[in-house]
Amino acid sequence: MSASARSTGSPSAARTARLAVKTSRRTELRNITADIADIVARSGVVSGVCHVYVPHTTAGVTINEGADPDVARDIELTFDRLAPRNAAGYQHAEGNSDSHVKTAIVGSSQTVFIEHGRLVLGTWQAIFLCEFDGPRTREVLVRSVPDAAV
Ligand code: ZN
Repeated sequence: MSASARSTGSPSAARTARLAVKTSRRTELRNITADIADIVARSGVVSGVCHVYVPHTTAGVTINEGADPDVARDIELTFDRLAPRNAAGYQHAEGNSDSHVKTAIVGSSQTVFIEHGRLVLGTWQAIFLCEFDGPRTREVLVRSVPDAAV
């Protein structure tokens, strides 16, 4: 695996973990479901929600089909068609306006329910880090929040 996880030290943040994800292409949907599931299992949260947050402006996170990898490839292809790298009119001097646009479309966070200590995902669903200006190493923050005691 190219991903690794570590928990933060302070007790108040004990249920937040940071995942480092190394991407290998400029536009890449990388399936991180197993890493998130591991983090949730280790959090000890049995019932609650898991927030997955990507603190970047040219990478985001989405949930979509993970069973057939062609789906992720087709999504990558479509994003590159929607926002071509060198479209006329971009003014951002860094030259990665398309990456920012794609990230704005997918967004920076997802929330998944936790039941019986496990992520609640549909049969075909997977969680993807969406790289739009790779390759590089990205950070994913995962916070598992238990239901409030009643
Ligand atoms: Zn930029």
